[in-house]
Amino acid sequence: MDIDTITAISTPIGEGAIAIVRLSGQEAVPISNRLFQGVDLTKVNSHTIHYGKIIDPITNEVAEEVMVNVMRGPRTFTREDVVEINCHGGIASVNRLLELVLAEGARLAEPGEFTKRAFLNGRIDLSQAEAVMDLIRAKTDKAMNVALKQMDGRLSKLIQKLRQELLETVAHVEVNIDYPEYDDVEEMTHDMLIKKTNEVYHEIEKLLQMAKQGKILREGLSTAIIGRPNVGKSSLLNALVHENKAIVTDIPGTTRDVIEEYVNIRGIPLRLVDTAGIRETEDIVERIGVEKSRQVLKEADLILLVLNFGDELTEEDVNLFKVVEGLDIIVIVNKTDLEQKIDIDRIKKFANGRPVITTALIEEIGIDELEQAIANTFFAGELDAGDLTYVSNVRHIQLLKQALQSLTDAMSGIEDGMPIDLVQIDITRTWELLGEIIGDTVQESLIDQLFSQFCLGK
Ligand code: GDP
Ligand code: ZN
Repeated sequence: MDIDTITAISTPIGEGAIAIVRLSGQEAVPISNRLFQGVDLTKVNSHTIHYGKIIDPITNEVAEEVMVNVMRGPRTFTREDVVEINCHGGIASVNRLLELVLAEGARLAEPGEFTKRAFLNGRIDLSQAEAVMDLIRAKTDKAMNVALKQMDGRLSKLIQKLRQELLETVAHVEVNIDYPEYDDVEEMTHDMLIKKTNEVYHEIEKLLQMAKQGKILREGLSTAIIGRPNVGKSSLLNALVHENKAIVTDIPGTTRDVIEEYVNIRGIPLRLVDTAGIRETEDIVERIGVEKSRQVLKEADLILLVLNFGDELTEEDVNLFKVVEGLDIIVIVNKTDLEQKIDIDRIKKFANGRPVITTALIEEIGIDELEQAIANTFFAGELDAGDLTYVSNVRHIQLLKQALQSLTDAMSGIEDGMPIDLVQIDITRTWELLGEIIGDTVQESLIDQLFSQFCLGK
């Protein structure tokens, strides 16, 4: 266990009426107490809040009026003693407070260190720790809900349930093989095995589908606007930014230094990316050709293809449809205030089931419909994140994909009548991969688990 006491400002800098300086570790209470004038914090009950003043020990001046929350481990986030000092929200006051706490012997926490302690001290599992990280970076309420749910252990519980099902299946088969004389244990039939693995398969598949949505919520929907010159791409971009609060983020501690622009469309962060110059692209096809521009545009999660209602469809327009074949697009037919020259039925054929929205951006008409179409494309029927468990972490997604693959191997093994002990290897592998998501070390022998399951072999 770490013995030093860490501290950090745990509220966003420069926002809100109050700010919190948090301390965690053995010295959290004594350090706070040395700065605090009011009650003796070393004597108060755990999980109580106290009003008082922070005194600068050097000048003896009152630095801050504060509320101090004292929480004794292990019933805290880190399982260590935690103190939260609530002060006025301004940057100057909170920084001053932090400096005083540091001067009294606390160490500035590294990014994520509180969470790391919570994990190391067994308070949360790995997926929950990762969720906390996601929470810190969440850009919309919806993204935050996902992170909160994961932190709350929903993903872990679901993973545990799936592992349990796999374990029972393996155990069942094992018992059939090793203890044929136990006739009170029903024989695991081919059909039962298929049914069991199928159930788990579908659950993992569902998680992966939602992972796509999770990624969008976490990282934003990278969006490109394409179309011929003068169709209204810039107008569209402006309308989206104008109608919605643009969220400009500068994420500290991440590798990217670029400031990205996000707009919040019905809870979905749209990332107006500038990478590869795909944010607004007029002559991409002309410049680099159909195949190349296709490669570039593939990087976008969403492509808004803009056409002119007042022009006939040109060869260039048709080329753009070729470029975006198979990608997630929304077609926007702009300038409906002009006399119609475009053939909407023909566009619908090209769009091939994907949404076609008409707008007159100059009159701010059609923006709502466009936003609805964006929401529907990525969250069809599930706009309310409700009880869904999302997976939004790259490591989890990789492991889920691998788990799905080994389960697929197991299932085709069963179909092909492969010996049961070979099938078992793949099922066990699936069980291990799922275990890695929640940070379960796989040292414990499966056989031990197995016997505790069935209470056999006493
Ligand atoms: P871009 O070249 O594709 O980025 O197109 P712009 O957004 O710069 O727009 C080109 C011109 O079309 C500008 O003069 C806009 O004011 C105009 N425009 C944009 N939307 C509409 C619309 O709905 N109706 C009409 N009549 N003009 C529009
Ligand atoms: Zn433009």
